[in-house]
Amino acid sequence: RPDKPLHFIQQIVKQDLEQGKIERLVTRFPPEPNGYLHIGHAKSICLNFGLAEEFGGVCNLRFDDTNPTKEEQEYVDAIKADVIWLGFQWHGDVKYASDYFDTFYQWAQALVRAGKAYVCDLSAQEASRYRGWATEPGKDSPYRNRSVEENLDLLGRMQAGEFDEGSRTLRAKIDMASPNMHLRDPVLYRIRKARHHQTGDKWCIYPSYDFAHGQEDAIEGVTHSICTLEFADHRPLYDWFIANLPVPHTPTQYEFARLELTYTVTSKRKLKQLVDEGHVDGWDDPRMPTISGMRRRGYPPAALRHFCELIGVTRSASTVDMSTLEYAVRDHLNEHAPRAMCVLNPLRVVVSNFPAGDVESMTQPVHPQNAAMGERRLPFTRELYIERADFNEDSTLSRKKFKRLVPGDWVRLRGAYVIRADEVEKDAQGNITVVHASLVPGTVGANPPEGVRPRGVIHWVSARENVDCELRLYERLFTDAAPDTGDKDFLDALNPDSLTVLSGCKGEIGLAAAAAEDHFQFEREGYFCLDNRLSTPAALVFNRTIGLKDGFKD
Ligand code: ATP
Ligand code: MG
Ligand code: MG
Repeated sequence: RPDKPLHFIQQIVKQDLEQGKIERLVTRFPPEPNGYLHIGHAKSICLNFGLAEEFGGVCNLRFDDTNPTKEEQEYVDAIKADVIWLGFQWHGDVKYASDYFDTFYQWAQALVRAGKAYVCDLSAQEASRYRGWATEPGKDSPYRNRSVEENLDLLGRMQAGEFDEGSRTLRAKIDMASPNMHLRDPVLYRIRKARHHQTGDKWCIYPSYDFAHGQEDAIEGVTHSICTLEFADHRPLYDWFIANLPVPHTPTQYEFARLELTYTVTSKRKLKQLVDEGHVDGWDDPRMPTISGMRRRGYPPAALRHFCELIGVTRSASTVDMSTLEYAVRDHLNEHAPRAMCVLNPLRVVVSNFPAGDVESMTQPVHPQNAAMGERRLPFTRELYIERADFNEDSTLSRKKFKRLVPGDWVRLRGAYVIRADEVEKDAQGNITVVHASLVPGTVGANPPEGVRPRGVIHWVSARENVDCELRLYERLFTDAAPDTGDKDFLDALNPDSLTVLSGCKGEIGLAAAAAEDHFQFEREGYFCLDNRLSTPAALVFNRTIGLKDGFKD
């Protein structure tokens, strides 16, 4: 993009290519399959895959599956689907850290032989005590000076399943006095007698994140290993492993600030809690900041990519306002979403001077600014529905205040006639059940005659030819802009009114052909998307993606 200055990682890559430091850029997106991806991951995906596209490189999708107890195949499948939906394709086959477990094990043995790793019998708690505080040197583990033979034997028996979970670890022998706690003899392997979704029961020990990540990068020839800032402290350890192992390639780690958004949480653990405790209806609940939730809500992938571009890539942590994301979504939908009319809360209107059996075909553009999107047919009949909120019995309401229908005055039905309200019918409780109206002849696509001044334009559907639908309206999931800060419990800020279900809504007949995830602008009401889970041809369900205007003002 010539029009936009390069961000710091683009600059690094550009320079590395120009100076011949690398021949081809290789990045990776390395999710742990322990939950669904969220908007923060979308930023990482756009960054890693985007760099590869931009600089003619490749990007791997690698599952960082070193922790079998929290991982599941369901998450692997969902993550793949999310990456593809966002518009990216990984290089070659999907990769798994577990593909390299044999190599990692050999490399661990090599470290032991070189006197750079040992089996430690301290419990996690004891080990933490020995490690001490960053302000003073830690204490060596009493097991630090075991012989190579003993270490090799114990490591083999750890893997053979002879010892209990938590009873032993394999640790690197680095520096118990380092001010960087990650270098105080970090754990390479822990005992976990758990079945793994890729390797089954083959392993009783599993590598730590630190012992796995850089080596995965090295095996795959990753040139730029991009992670979030909290891993900056791990970089010396990342480099230590690369320097001390017979790796085929030297990757480099770079860090950027993670995305935080107002009015939501971006932590898989907390999102999982929302799902597990039933606060939402699954990972893909349209209120969730997950990629699958935003997809179901109707956020277009191009809008998410645009959002990631808008917010940029920096090294300084900051929180992005939710309205920036909403702007990107609204902007995209305004340009691309077909228009349709849908009456949320229907009120019957009978047009007394239109013959009962007749149907007149009205036409409207699918998109007012894009003729190429074609036209839609709107059957006009004697009985119609308008929005209950578009009629008021009080004919003294000023034209300025109420630009809709009142007895004795006119409105235009969008794309059809100008009508006047004449009389109302009410039920026993005094609720208006029918408005009797009359149309002004010759007003379709033409100005009304002198003296007829419509108050405004309202939407409508034929009462005979329409589709019944359910609309689901969403508000923000949290009422607090920062639900996840300080010592707040994020659950306290859950918005009890984040979902409103409207049934018995009446959409224009063309909506019957809508497919799952199709987007629409329901005129005057907002952007909607056909739900990809609950909707059936017999009972359409639309999710409101977002309102027409920014309704949330802080
Ligand atoms: P969480 O903290 O939500 O559990 P994670 O970082 O543990 O997320 P991973 O599956 O390990 O999740 O992340 C995969 C990649 O996505 C990593 O490279 C990570 O740095 C990146 N990532 C995760 N969260 C964000 C975020 N909020 N902003 C940007 N990148 C992120
Ligand atoms: Mg993680
Ligand atoms: Mg995490």
